[in-house]
Amino acid sequence: MGCRVKKKLIAGNWKMNGSLAANDALVKALVAGMAASTCHVALCVPSVYLAQCQALMAGTAIDLGAQDLSQHEAGAFTGEISGAMLKEFGVRYCIVGHSERRQYHGETDALVAAKTQRALASGITPIVCVGETLAEREAGKTEEVVKRQLAAVIHANGHCISEIVVAYEPVWAIGTGKTATTEQAQQVHAVLRAQLKAATNQADRIHILYGGSMNAANAAQLLAQPDIDGGLVGGASLKAPDFLSIIASAP
Ligand code: PEP
Repeated sequence: MGCRVKKKLIAGNWKMNGSLAANDALVKALVAGMAASTCHVALCVPSVYLAQCQALMAGTAIDLGAQDLSQHEAGAFTGEISGAMLKEFGVRYCIVGHSERRQYHGETDALVAAKTQRALASGITPIVCVGETLAEREAGKTEEVVKRQLAAVIHANGHCISEIVVAYEPVWAIGTGKTATTEQAQQVHAVLRAQLKAATNQADRIHILYGGSMNAANAAQLLAQPDIDGGLVGGASLKAPDFLSIIASAP
């Protein structure tokens, strides 16, 4: 069997949601409800709330995450946020290449690879998102697409690749209420694991998360798959009872 047992990682992606009052209530409810949790838990929050969330999560079992970072180190890049800045606020994880950024901000595979490098250089674990659109799935291109997206990141990051987290997020399942079946998800996760194995002998250490309408009802089955090491959770991470029940279903 080898040493394949690792703690699951459940990461919430708040996207552009929240307020000072709502964040306060949500984080406090999560902290109160997850005392006995055995998995890793992180919340990727809008950057303006990092200071607030850093304070709320101090001394708790929840790690702080961000949703994006600049590929640049510093300088004249108005509106951008650097890895070093995120690090100053105690950020441990940063989502990179979320499909909403690929779609609405034109992020390319090369840019996602550069942002991954910047996160690693800043001491932040990138959660690198890959996933196919519905048209790509229907055209039988799922494997080709996710392998191309991950290959760019592997190429640019060499031996550091074992330090990343990968999130498989079929675009057609994000925020739609349509979840990949456990078989569909496991199949793609196995493909990604094999690709990582070809790049590093540490591939079993790497968390590969599933994301796409994960909820309290479907989490346990998804998380029981051999290559699904956790979840990246959007909508359901905004409701404490739902997120807590996903956390509780992580074996
Ligand atoms: C996401 O934003 O990464 C995501 C998976 O969203 P949702 O859970 O709402 O589908």
